[in-house]
Amino acid sequence: MSINPFAFSISRNAALALTLACCLLIFIITNHFISDHTKASAQVNNYSYLVDPTQKKSITHLLNLESQDWRSNTSDIYSPSASTDVHWLKFTAPKLSPLKNWLLEIDNPLLNEVNVWFVQNNIVISQYSAGDAKPFYTRPILQENFVFTVPLHNQPIDIYIRASSTVSMRLPIYLWPQELYLSNETTHSITMGIFIGLMVTMGLCSLFSFIATRAVSFLVYSGYVVSLVLTITTLHGFAFRYIWPNAVFFQQHAAVFFASCLLCFSTIFCDQLLDVKSYNLHLSKLLKILASIFLLGAGLSFLIPQPIYISALLFMTLLNGLITFLTGILLWRKGSAIAHYYTLAWTMLYVLGVSISLDSLNIFKFSVSPEHYLMLGATLETIFLALILIFSHYKQKQTELSEQARLLDIERQNRSTEQAVIEQQKTATEELEYKVQERTLELEITLRELSEKNQELEKKNTLDALTGIRNRSYFDKKYQAELRRSKREQTKLSIVMLDIDHFKSVNDIHGHLMGDECIKVVANILKQSLKRPSDTVCRYGGEEFAMILPSTDLEGALALVEKIRKEIFNTDIILNNDVVKVTVSAGVGTATADFTVNEKSILAVADQQLYKAKNAGRNQTLGCYLS
Ligand code: GH3
Ligand code: MG
Ligand code: MG
Repeated sequence: MSINPFAFSISRNAALALTLACCLLIFIITNHFISDHTKASAQVNNYSYLVDPTQKKSITHLLNLESQDWRSNTSDIYSPSASTDVHWLKFTAPKLSPLKNWLLEIDNPLLNEVNVWFVQNNIVISQYSAGDAKPFYTRPILQENFVFTVPLHNQPIDIYIRASSTVSMRLPIYLWPQELYLSNETTHSITMGIFIGLMVTMGLCSLFSFIATRAVSFLVYSGYVVSLVLTITTLHGFAFRYIWPNAVFFQQHAAVFFASCLLCFSTIFCDQLLDVKSYNLHLSKLLKILASIFLLGAGLSFLIPQPIYISALLFMTLLNGLITFLTGILLWRKGSAIAHYYTLAWTMLYVLGVSISLDSLNIFKFSVSPEHYLMLGATLETIFLALILIFSHYKQKQTELSEQARLLDIERQNRSTEQAVIEQQKTATEELEYKVQERTLELEITLRELSEKNQELEKKNTLDALTGIRNRSYFDKKYQAELRRSKREQTKLSIVMLDIDHFKSVNDIHGHLMGDECIKVVANILKQSLKRPSDTVCRYGGEEFAMILPSTDLEGALALVEKIRKEIFNTDIILNNDVVKVTVSAGVGTATADFTVNEKSILAVADQQLYKAKNAGRNQTLGCYLS
């Protein structure tokens, strides 16, 4: 079972409110924690400055300048725009307590070059040289900012600073008692530690989420967080100190390089997160082009002169910010659920940007330095975006799940339809089978009837129409069968041939009807005389009859035929008051069939005996064994 990330039923708006509350809490704590009251008290805000575009002026030259050659300060912090110019600052340190060690801090880790001279009565008493154009460990004091020991003095001391930077020319200057500097530095380090820790955690979580879900947005977000943390740690000098202390060339370009990467990732993230291509293909293409420009810029940032590149980057950043902000609003209006949160996050960043601007223009003063605001803003933005990302992913998963459920439903419907069709087919098959069975039964009955009819017909075919006894064709079959039986069982088989004497004259004298009557009467007497079921009498043809007497020897057969002959002799045949008497002659042939006895042999003997009886005067029976 999948785990619903919001299973504890916190609604989206409640989660949003919770995040906002967290952000607010972080803001209040940070504001309190990194409050710069101590820093403000140490800040040097009375100084004179001078710009040297030739980069050729030396300290000797400067020491000999009249005070009217210097310009006095107009703001608390000297911050001209970055260029290749060299900037000189001069101020007089008041008489400092000799009981403490004093430190001079220049709070800009991105200065390429910085030289400091401590001068008393126009004589240099101590001097230092630093800058991120030199390896980190060449610094007099190993700190992210440039920190120098102020020589012990009981007279006011003049401090000359020569600085140049192509990235950021801000020159906030502080004079610290050592212990105060250290406590302030500890606070700053803790703040940075919390920030870096938070960002790394977010980046790793997002990376793991990408590995778990394969959703590219998480990977892009990781890229965004990594670029952000590297940009900010570069701006604060932490990256140079802890990651690439000797890579001075890279350090010169790192800030703009990572800023370009950050913009590239945030643009892709916007495109991915808001799924811009589903709403407006052109806008999505524009965002992709912008991301490509930033990616290209990141590569070129090492080649293009920095002041030019930074101006271009600033312009592109503003343009990009405006486009992504408008994208958020456009998609919000088009009904994207994520877009209004995204726009809110952007608005928050803009409000912060405006606050920083107000602060730097001295219109409204915050107790926190702009760098800290930037960090704070970045943290809040990152947390907010993470929340939106999770919402977006959750929503996407929900859409996927409901789509899956829909497909499953369709599948289920299809299956039930299929089931119904199968059921119908089954019923149809059963009906068909039933009908086939019915038809088969009907057919079987018909066949049986037909077979009965056939049998009847067959029987009729074996009967003689006139007499009702078996006919010649039946005799032939029966004779063959009895021959085989006699051969098999070695029993005697007798065949009788019987013929009515002078029948032609009966017909001639009494007519054919009387003739037929005589044949019928003789047949009936023959039929009645046979007692054994195996005995058969047939009308062989005309007024001739044949009898098959199985298991009957010659004597038995002769006795039977003699009895028949006498009965016929004693019978009066009456038809229409006409009375006729007929006699019969018979021949008997008997044999036990073996391979020498063929089908005609016994019949032939019976026929010969009949012929002999006729010749011997008729009305008699003769018989003999087959020799
Ligand atoms: P024999 O004593 O030598 O047998 O003389 P016969 O007259 O009986 O023999 P023959 O073969 O010369 O004549 C047989 C006669 O039987 C000829 C025929 O007209 C008559 N006949 C044959 N079949 C039938 C029949 O079904 N009905 C009638 N009425 N007469 C038949
Ligand atoms: Mg005859
Ligand atoms: Mg005859």
